[in-house]
Amino acid sequence: MSTGRLSVLYTRRAELGVDALLLSHLPDIRWACGFSGTNGVVLVGDETAHFVTDGRYSDQARQEVEGAEVHVTTDGLLSYLESEDLLAPYGQIGVQADDVTVSRYQALRDQFPNVTWTPLTGVLTRLRASKETAEVDRIRRAQRITDAVFEEIVELLSAGVTEREVAAEVTYRHLQKGADAMAFPPIVASGPHAAQPHARPTDRALQDGDLVVLDMGCFRDGYASDMTRTVAIGEPGEEARTAFEVVRHAQTRALDTACAGITGEGLDAKARDVIEDAGLGSLFSHSLGHGIGLEVHEWPRVSHKTSEELPEGVCVTIEPGVYNPEAGYGVRIEDIVVLRSDGADNLTATSKALHIV
Ligand code: ZN
Ligand code: ZN
Repeated sequence: MSTGRLSVLYTRRAELGVDALLLSHLPDIRWACGFSGTNGVVLVGDETAHFVTDGRYSDQARQEVEGAEVHVTTDGLLSYLESEDLLAPYGQIGVQADDVTVSRYQALRDQFPNVTWTPLTGVLTRLRASKETAEVDRIRRAQRITDAVFEEIVELLSAGVTEREVAAEVTYRHLQKGADAMAFPPIVASGPHAAQPHARPTDRALQDGDLVVLDMGCFRDGYASDMTRTVAIGEPGEEARTAFEVVRHAQTRALDTACAGITGEGLDAKARDVIEDAGLGSLFSHSLGHGIGLEVHEWPRVSHKTSEELPEGVCVTIEPGVYNPEAGYGVRIEDIVVLRSDGADNLTATSKALHIV
């Protein structure tokens, strides 16, 4: 999957106006050369690339890394770069400002005083945003696990079960069905807790009349899933039921109009207008969605602050919500879509009808 990506990076290096790039952000490294471990750097020069990791990853690096010469060290990564003189050909090297800590940056400057270190942002952001078919397939595969887990979880929901018990089942069943890890701690937010968009599961027992917001996702083969559904324990009150229908309508409007070329703010507005027209605009307190791929939150944000056009092949979530702390309920519905020039393919299979258990 990563064949050819390092050659794209040689061009990117030239565009950024540096002699070399020192990649350290692990999802970028995975995208660039396939390495899935937790320690390594990639030095991208002009037509050559070196990958350096530590002894724990000796076999894994040799199996996974494509397009770069693999180096394994028992010393620190920086000491190795120094002892092997790997930076010698380069006068100016770009580092990833969003990833390198201040102390690491200082160490680079102290250890390699002849190099001009240039902090750069967004080195791979846009390259990673448009997904290849194999990447979309991986997101879909991760989402299929989440869809299957949700189907089972709905059966477990009833008055008396606690949020924490449900969250434990969500995690267990994801791993049991083949997830490599959870993409984030699951949200199981019932009744008044659902009015906080990012509530943590508590010992609160589900009660009749609650809406329960379930937000869950996992990693499989490096790629993330992310889905939210809102379930009712018994018949919900009229106000909560109306809010659910408004959110569902808002999400449908956004899904129907999403396509490559629309701006983040344009897409956000499609859903927000529906919620505002229903008089609930002040209760939709977050942006409509986010990019997803090797990270569960990545560029672009689908928000009123994003004036850029969303590119062909980008995968984004569409997740409008309404949160009413005074009335003690919350609703969110979230799917993942891949944007094409003529519309959006939905990667989420779970029904969006209100599940009443
Ligand atoms: Zn989510
Ligand atoms: Zn999300």
